[in-house]
Amino acid sequence: MMTTVQFIEPISSREGVAQASVLFVDTFGKAPAGVWAAPGRVNLIGEHTDYNAGLCLPIALPHRTFVALRPREDSMVRLVSSMNPDDVTTNDLAGLRARGVEGWSAYPAGVAWALRQAGYDGVQGFDAAFVSCVPLGSGLSSSAAMTCSTALALDDVAGLGFGASDAGRVTLINAAMTAENDMAGASTGGLDQNASMRCTPGHALLLDCRPELTALNNVSQQPFDLAGRGLELLVVDTQAPHQLNDGQYAQRRTTCEQAARILGVRNLRVSADAVAAAQDQRQALAAVLGALPDETMRKRVRHVITEIDRVRQFVDAFARGDIAEAGRLFNASHDSLAKDYEVTVPELDVAVDVARHRGAYGARMTGGGFGGSIIALVDAGRSREVAQAIADEFARQGFHAPRALAAVASASASKEA
Ligand code: ADP
Ligand code: MG
Repeated sequence: MMTTVQFIEPISSREGVAQASVLFVDTFGKAPAGVWAAPGRVNLIGEHTDYNAGLCLPIALPHRTFVALRPREDSMVRLVSSMNPDDVTTNDLAGLRARGVEGWSAYPAGVAWALRQAGYDGVQGFDAAFVSCVPLGSGLSSSAAMTCSTALALDDVAGLGFGASDAGRVTLINAAMTAENDMAGASTGGLDQNASMRCTPGHALLLDCRPELTALNNVSQQPFDLAGRGLELLVVDTQAPHQLNDGQYAQRRTTCEQAARILGVRNLRVSADAVAAAQDQRQALAAVLGALPDETMRKRVRHVITEIDRVRQFVDAFARGDIAEAGRLFNASHDSLAKDYEVTVPELDVAVDVARHRGAYGARMTGGGFGGSIIALVDAGRSREVAQAIADEFARQGFHAPRALAAVASASASKEA
């Protein structure tokens, strides 16, 4: 039996505020000080490049995580999520150490911990209630939606003032990253948090992850008006189990760091830029790869170097309206992630394949891989049909039923009430 594919609709600001407030009052018995929200994101192209000081190109989703929050006089953190409304977690910020919080609470508690570690002693304990429509573990960054909404809320109630400017938000991004890396133990390179905090409606965020850059020069807003070009960006969450925490992501990072050491460069971006600047790029890439000791490392590095170049090419192609070329770059990115970086799973490859056969200009996995979602660039009005074709093929192959959503370049984290 073929079933109709489900589209995940975004929660409106009004609904999000109402639901988070009700959950807060029901759980903690008083009113929240306010409600804040932060979006999930989808990365258009530039995968596994952030931790290589490369380029990436996310948009913020209209799907957001809402947090109703109230500061406390003490250092306790009490948390509840609509995913499990009967389970309230309690942790104490006093004396808290890295990896000191279990489960999902590590994300919000970790943000407060990170801000205090950074010297912002005004950040105290708090009660918080979360409501989200960002699918969890689907490569759409529900974790950053959670840490960034919390960071903006804490910034506001502690009167730090970082949330008010793009440059200030970098402090909150760093706290959100520290929470994920050091409290939740989930390695992250910064793409997700920058997207959730810095994207603007109708634009993709061209993010340059070179560590020597600052907030003043590491992003540019690239117009990304799909509707104006008669296009839609379909996201399909394959629902294949997402296993970034099983060490594969860390292994890819380690291999890249080892390769950089062998090449005598600070990071692989340096090599990517050298190849891009060479007269004969093919030969320059071959020379870099030839200096590496084994085939696995050569494949990983080839992905990183070619992927950084594809980000630049995609930005140019979309800007001049060359959608066929933009789609070709999506396809090349996926194929590189499948064959060279080896982070796809059958569900991702099948979904991409079906989308291409159904007339997508291009399709690729997005996010870290090992499960998660794909994106497909399709003509306006065709998303439902392509998503259904993927769902039907998944049913035939005995995969979990996928879910879909429509990606529109939306706003970054904000105070909602
Ligand atoms: P992704 O960020 O791609 O969704 P991650 O594995 O990085 O996947 O983050 C997912 C984790 O974030 C969940 O397992 C959970 O611990 C936490 N999380 C995110 N959103 C929520 C939420 N609304 N309620 C509870 N936990 C959440
Ligand atoms: Mg995440």
